[in-house]
Amino acid sequence: MFPYFVTMKDTPKHQGLRKKLVQTLERKGIANPEVLKAIGYIPRHLFMDSGFLDHAYVDKAFPIAADQTISQPYTVARQTELLDLKRGDTVLEIGTGSGYQTAVLLEMGMQVYSIERQHELFKITKRFLPKLGYRAKKLVFGDGYKGLPETAPYDGIIVTAGAPYVPKPLLAQLKVGGKLVIPVGEHSQIMTVFNRASPTNFEKEEFGEFRFVPLLEDKN
Ligand code: SAH
Repeated sequence: MFPYFVTMKDTPKHQGLRKKLVQTLERKGIANPEVLKAIGYIPRHLFMDSGFLDHAYVDKAFPIAADQTISQPYTVARQTELLDLKRGDTVLEIGTGSGYQTAVLLEMGMQVYSIERQHELFKITKRFLPKLGYRAKKLVFGDGYKGLPETAPYDGIIVTAGAPYVPKPLLAQLKVGGKLVIPVGEHSQIMTVFNRASPTNFEKEEFGEFRFVPLLEDKN
């Protein structure tokens, strides 16, 4: 649960820690200034349980509700960078979770659609994001394997859970020129980017090993 009624504040201490986090990300190779600016601006500690406040600006993943995690800042930064989007572009996120990645995309001026399959998390995050002023185009409770065909195609699709395979509907819902950024694998994942070069041709590139909670099949 996010105790925002107690912690809905940002302090100079948090801001200082955030500045350090941004420097860490730069050292690790994140170069996109828009990504760094968004991470430097968003109060990540508000997306986490109160017990973890002191850890919010360490470059690590942390537990949130429903046995899920808020992704490591480096991972969020890297995936966002790989999406390679500009202000106004539409993006579909699979795995809303805490809403932190959603907030990064919104802060960068994208139009964001996001899907979450855990109802508890979906409800919490849907209430929480607008309190920080972040308004997604649509937050959906559902199964990300199917994507969101009704508002497709998208300039980019980002999957924030480990996918055992690449769901076909996600490739189908990309615009030509758009990119799907998806960690693929069972126990650990290879960050994989599919660039839709033409309606029928996808160029694949790989960007190293990561570790995510699993993208689960529909439980309904
Ligand atoms: N973007 C999130 C990361 C959360 S972890 C953040 O920044 O906090 C991955 C999330 O994917 C979890 O919340 C999990 O419940 C969700 N998830 C797992 N399988 C899914 C599926 N099939 N469809 C949609 N969301 C899914």
